[in-house]
Amino acid sequence: FPADPDADARVREDDRAHVFHSWSAQALIDPLPVAGGEGSTFWDYAGNAYLDFSSQLVNLNLGHQHPDLVAAIQRQASRLATIQPSMANDVRGDLARRIAAVAGDGFEKVFFTNGGADANENAVRMARLVTGRRKVLSMYRSYHGNTSTAIALTGDPRRWPNEPADGSTAKFFGPYPYRSAFHSSSPEEEAQRALEHLEQTIVLEGAGTIAAIVIESIVGTNGVLVPPPGYLAGVRELCDRFGIVYIADEVMVGFGRVGEWFAFQADGVLPDLITFAKGVNSGYVPLGGVVISDRIAAHFDTVPFPGGLTYSGHPLACAAGVATFEVFERDGILARVRDLGARVVAPRLQEIASRHPSVGDVRGRGLFWAIELVKDRDTREPLVPFNASGMDAAPVAAVAAACKRDGVWPFTHFNRLHVAPPLVIGEDELVRGLDVIDRALSHADEHVS
Ligand code: PLP
Repeated sequence: FPADPDADARVREDDRAHVFHSWSAQALIDPLPVAGGEGSTFWDYAGNAYLDFSSQLVNLNLGHQHPDLVAAIQRQASRLATIQPSMANDVRGDLARRIAAVAGDGFEKVFFTNGGADANENAVRMARLVTGRRKVLSMYRSYHGNTSTAIALTGDPRRWPNEPADGSTAKFFGPYPYRSAFHSSSPEEEAQRALEHLEQTIVLEGAGTIAAIVIESIVGTNGVLVPPPGYLAGVRELCDRFGIVYIADEVMVGFGRVGEWFAFQADGVLPDLITFAKGVNSGYVPLGGVVISDRIAAHFDTVPFPGGLTYSGHPLACAAGVATFEVFERDGILARVRDLGARVVAPRLQEIASRHPSVGDVRGRGLFWAIELVKDRDTREPLVPFNASGMDAAPVAAVAAACKRDGVWPFTHFNRLHVAPPLVIGEDELVRGLDVIDRALSHADEHVS
């Protein structure tokens, strides 16, 4: 990874002068100039390489520069680079058929979007039109995207400065056994009490006013919260009982992240609408969408769907999606993720937890894990406060900095470190990255009281 100080300076200069970055005070950031990437590694212009333990924004499921995806995009670009959504296109149809096939029985149609937020936006639109109701329920500790409905549904601090005024959303507590809102003492009790709470929320909000419940099948950024057995089945039953559309947000956990095509499949349930993005083509070209159950799709057989996007089902994005399916099937990606998760990550994280007093909980599935850091294992006081920034966040920032110094790019959020490498990561790389995290956690241990 040869250093190139001139390029480094040039990229920094243009970026700082002209690029307005997401979620940031523009004068307080220092974005890393990235020169290139391959597989699970990317590198900067200063000669440093990083193992990408966050798969960028948990989207790079097949790693950087996967040759099959690059070739598929190149082939498609030379054949037909773009075509408007109202025309039929071979790769668009091919990808929609493949996605519907893996979604399960009762799904045939896909509405393509540019990413995850607009997938949720359009799923909610469908639910409202089909039910004739307006309100949508979602969880505290959730992220659903940054467009108006999607951010209103978001149950984390990113909603606060964007607070909607129209009152068409309401929040409830999802299961979180380590920090139960229900004082439960087992996963079974947590599932049951969380369902009772959801039922009460539905009744008190007015069942007849609720169009949809939107749930991340495994809560992603807000904690890798795997629902205890029976929870998603209970949500399905409540939705059936009250005539509410069940929208599964699979944007972060779909397409193999946890070893299934869609994370809800491990729970044996079927939602009414499935939203996806990220892993569908590893983000090589922006793509998201809604997989639509036949019952909801039928509503729009004769009634026009009032929504659309210029780039819906973009051929370059869809070509990368078709190539993703081919790689998954040829290389057995789903089985690989389940194997690496169960055989390598789970035992190693348990072992790390047993040696580091700052580790309160480790949880996850497949190649998607959280290490939750605490000041005190008995009280479970978080290592840094909820939504910490600046000096308050320093203990977790020190762990992240130590990872980076040792060549691993981590994902951190509040008092957690997430492990979310590309699904193609080599076993040796995975072990090396976990070793780096193990060493870096000594910086968190220093703050244990
Ligand atoms: N839903 C979930 C669960 C997500 O994690 C994200 C992004 O992180 C989104 C929706 C929004 O997706 P996008 O950023 O592609 O709009």
